[in-house]
Amino acid sequence: MNTKEIKKTEEEYFINTFSRQPIVLDKGHGATVYDKDGNKYTDFFAGIAVNNLGHTHPKVVEAIKTQSEKLIHISNIYYNEPNVILGKKLVDLTCLDKIFFSNSGAEANEGAIKLAIKYTGKTEIIAMKNSFHGRTIATLTATGQDAYKKDYLENLPHGFKHAEFGDIESIKNQITDETAAIMIEPIQGEGGVNIPSKEFYKQLNKLCEEKEILLILDEVQTGFGRCGSMFAYEIFGIKPDIMTLAKAMGGGMPIGAILASDKVASAFSPGDHGTTFGGGPFVSAVANAAIDAIIEENLVNESKEKGEYFKDKLLKLKDKHSKIKEVRGMGLMIGIELKEPCSALVNKLREKGFLVNCTAGSVLRFLPPLVISKKEIDALIKVLNGVLE
Ligand SMILES: *Cc1c(COP(=O)(O)O)cnc(C)c1O
Repeated sequence: MNTKEIKKTEEEYFINTFSRQPIVLDKGHGATVYDKDGNKYTDFFAGIAVNNLGHTHPKVVEAIKTQSEKLIHISNIYYNEPNVILGKKLVDLTCLDKIFFSNSGAEANEGAIKLAIKYTGKTEIIAMKNSFHGRTIATLTATGQDAYKKDYLENLPHGFKHAEFGDIESIKNQITDETAAIMIEPIQGEGGVNIPSKEFYKQLNKLCEEKEILLILDEVQTGFGRCGSMFAYEIFGIKPDIMTLAKAMGGGMPIGAILASDKVASAFSPGDHGTTFGGGPFVSAVANAAIDAIIEENLVNESKEKGEYFKDKLLKLKDKHSKIKEVRGMGLMIGIELKEPCSALVNKLREKGFLVNCTAGSVLRFLPPLVISKKEIDALIKVLNGVLE
């Protein structure tokens, strides 16, 4: 099929849920992707913060080849070695003690909510305004953006409340005797790359401890080096009781996880939660390779260093262009808030060979692979400077 036929067929056969960019991506390597018509793009979106290793990373490809010839799926009725290795790896990498594997971020958050309710025996979760936690019914309810849930309001589960992100008083005001957990992204991604202060997280740790409320940290987007540390909780000194991961974890494979402290994890016994696909040998082997590659190639430091370089250049653009309201970011999770909607800019940049994203209406969001080069960053800055004029 050619580009036109692909687009037409999709339109005819698919449920209309995505407003897709009008290109068909066909192949890629590192931060470079090509469409069906042979046009070349530098990818500053990385499949929504999934391709931290870039496209078709050799270690990921090798693991796919090796494991796919050995064993792909067995269910959780049996043990599999790649999954046990992955579970130990993630527990050793984080501040938490126990793990459960899911297939996506939303599913990890669903499980986290169940675990918090089961452990505390309470009924309320306080999430943040402008947050994003997924598209399933419960995670949609936790999500603090009306646009995603306005058509389902009558059917959403009870027990979810929303406080102002970064505002400890607003959270305090929502706490009742029934509060099981506070659910929060360290940095809000879909909400517009919103970054609270370290002081806020210090107060939040204290509040949760005092009130014996669990802290569910959604690191689905911020994890695996994205923000310049392996996990964003390290930057802010956040002490989660439960943490969720997905996106970059599998090097492109659909896999997620719930991590919890020993104490909290002990609330689940066999039968309380489960999954058919979660933690299968294939996705686990690929995730092992992806995480090892992030560590071996020192990509966490690369993210921090190149993120600062990138942000610096964007701040210089801000001095030149009055359209830019603010530049904010950590590591290679960077947003520039414009004084106008940013979708036209996304189209212009794509036409000039750069894939970027617009979120929260007016925030141009950059989530490049951590393997992006400074040369590629320079090239984007040059083009962005041009299109802003
Ligand atoms: C993407 C995202 C999710 C949902 O993950 P899916 O894999 O799409 O279900 C949840 N939380 C955050 C912070 C995300 O960025």
